[in-house]
Amino acid sequence: MKTAIVGAGASGVIAALSCKSKEIILIDGNDKSLKKILLTGNGRCNYWNEYIDIDKYNTDNYDILQKIISKENINKTYEFLYKLGIYPKIKNNNYYPYSNQASSVRQILEKNLTKKNIKFINNFKVNNIYKINDEFIIESTNNEKIKCDKLILATGSKAYPKTGSDGSGYELLKKFNLKINPVTPALTKLFTKEKYLWENVRSDVNIKLFVNNKFIKEEYGEVQLTMDAISGICTFNLSSIASKSLYLKKNVYVKIDFLPNIPNIIQFLDDRQKIINGNIEEILESIFNYKLMFVLLKYSNINKEKRWDDLSLIEKNILSKNIKEFKLNIIGTDTFDKSQVCTGGLSLNYINPKNMSVNDVNGLYVVGEILDVDGMCGGFNLAFAFITGYLAGSDIND
Ligand SMILES: Cc1cc2nc3c(=O)[nH]c(=O)nc-3n(C[C@H](O)[C@H](O)[C@H](O)COP(=O)(O)OP(=O)(O)OC[C@H]3O[C@@H](n4cnc5c(N)ncnc54)[C@H](O)[C@@H]3O)c2cc1C
Repeated sequence: MKTAIVGAGASGVIAALSCKSKEIILIDGNDKSLKKILLTGNGRCNYWNEYIDIDKYNTDNYDILQKIISKENINKTYEFLYKLGIYPKIKNNNYYPYSNQASSVRQILEKNLTKKNIKFINNFKVNNIYKINDEFIIESTNNEKIKCDKLILATGSKAYPKTGSDGSGYELLKKFNLKINPVTPALTKLFTKEKYLWENVRSDVNIKLFVNNKFIKEEYGEVQLTMDAISGICTFNLSSIASKSLYLKKNVYVKIDFLPNIPNIIQFLDDRQKIINGNIEEILESIFNYKLMFVLLKYSNINKEKRWDDLSLIEKNILSKNIKEFKLNIIGTDTFDKSQVCTGGLSLNYINPKNMSVNDVNGLYVVGEILDVDGMCGGFNLAFAFITGYLAGSDIND
């Protein structure tokens, strides 16, 4: 029995390491394996999370996802990673290698490939796969051919194509008449219709996402504001749904609460005025970054020289609303080459969650980000790549 794994990223390498096939070949279009992993977690590789659960993911089939990331599969995969040699440092439920170096994770995985004598064929860009009887034929752009009995496709998405994941895997799946759900950028910046002079301001906020005027999801955390975009982890975590909705031509906006811990702004500023016998700028200046404060005042049409207690109730309400519910219309996302992952991909409806095999194509397995599953920031995407790689690899025993 010969098993080929196309894609030597996180999912493909774990598939290879957990596979017990007589002959295992790992194929990649790059010269080296695991290029993307070096970029993860800002070079620290946030590879796992204490709370892996379906509410941390977007997918087209939550029932199948629930079976894939069952407690049992999570535990088995984590134990496998641990036994390979990855020792964790856990911070706020996020797992990093204790070394804080993504390169150490790559080295450990590569050394294990060598120990296991797994044949790595590099610079083999696959551009066609077909089946003759029970055998898969894998063809490269240079017309080289590799044959195998079982095939694990682990080619990733279209995010950060310079790491090798250029979306060509979707085309390979289409050759088996499998439909690909629309693929759009995720874990990415969101561009706004409005342009404000708050370049490079960071603020701890609550952000609520609305699609076609319906509240969808909220996040707390630091937002980074630029003239024409918002970013930061809390924005990223809303970006998948925003991206999909924009693709479907829906109306998308966010409302930002710049003082999430203060429920009653009018009361709060009344109290501040009593302490600070000055104008509104003096009342707000240690609360907001100056750039943000001037945007809030300008947008509320309030002169910074005025005193808070001289404002009309209407003016007070307008400023209070802008502090608590600042609306920004979302008109786009960043491009694939600057987005960490993608939404969409191969529907989970095709997948047998026991082993990641494709129901309609005997011998074919699909793992990792090429599937229609994307996770929030916090190690959930690598965890999904590892779990699915492990499930497929450990299913092949002969
Ligand atoms: C900047 C950045 C930071 C990130 N940080 C984190 C993080 O901290 N935590 C986290 O959980 N996730 C993070 N992610 C996401 C995570 O890296 C991915 O979800 C994960 O690597 C996906 O693994 P994969 O095996 O499915 O695909 P990939 O790792 O993309 O691997 C796919 C492989 O397939 C190969 N390939 C593709 N097409 C072909 C072809 N036609 N022929 C041959 N080979 C092919 C590619 O060369 C590549 O080696 C980050 C992503 C980026 C871009």
